Amino acid sequence: MSARRKLVAGNWKMHGSRSSTDDLLALLVAGLDGLSCDVLVCPPYPYLAQAHTVLQGTGVVLGAQNLSEHVEGAFTGEVAPSMLRDVGCTHVLVGHSERRSLYGESDAIVAAKFVAAQAAGLVPVLCVGETLAEREAGLTQGVVDRQLDAVLQVAGVSAMRQAVVAYEPVWAIGTGRTASPAQAQAVHAGIRAVLAARDPEVAAGVRILYGGSVKPQGAEELFRQPDIDGGLVGGAALVAGDFLAICRVA
Ligand code: PEP
Repeated sequence: MSARRKLVAGNWKMHGSRSSTDDLLALLVAGLDGLSCDVLVCPPYPYLAQAHTVLQGTGVVLGAQNLSEHVEGAFTGEVAPSMLRDVGCTHVLVGHSERRSLYGESDAIVAAKFVAAQAAGLVPVLCVGETLAEREAGLTQGVVDRQLDAVLQVAGVSAMRQAVVAYEPVWAIGTGRTASPAQAQAVHAGIRAVLAARDPEVAAGVRILYGGSVKPQGAEELFRQPDIDGGLVGGAALVAGDFLAICRVA
């Protein structure tokens, strides 16, 4: 059995309202008893402070879905890393595929965000993953390695001691199509091997989450794979019963 404690993270994306956030959090908090994994939730920016208040003392940690790579200044509409800390975040997603594909975040920007997050004391959850075309062209590991390497080049491998990696095949996000446990395990093992080539101890300690249409059915088998240390959950994180069921099998 791995010494790495499982982590289940919920990415709420751009969903919810003040009242639905309260409702979802209340249901989550009521269902935490007996969980043996770490739990992270990432609501939209406007609800972070509210979520922090509700989650205090529950053990559930709070993350944002994005951040600016800048410390402060004339960056209209952006949110600084220190602001996330200020409202109670400990974690932040970096390089989610929707940020990469819809908002043009390059590997270099993602790496800058990773560094900015850590500089502010946040744990970045670095998302990597290939598109369907890249998978079909046999490029999966190359793409994932390139995305990881961009961060390692600027942050160094030891930065991964205070980070989480999430492997999210783009073709599985929000599509209902999950990578098979074997497909996911192969990429996770590849990610760990890239890290191990630089520092075996760091590689052994880093948590690598799987994301992409994780549902209660199937989660247990994914989490049984030796290099899968939990999940990054989108759609199912909006349904307290589903999210808790996923946490229960982690
Ligand atoms: C995600 O947004 O990170 C994600 C994995 O979404 P879903 O679970 O809905 O595929």
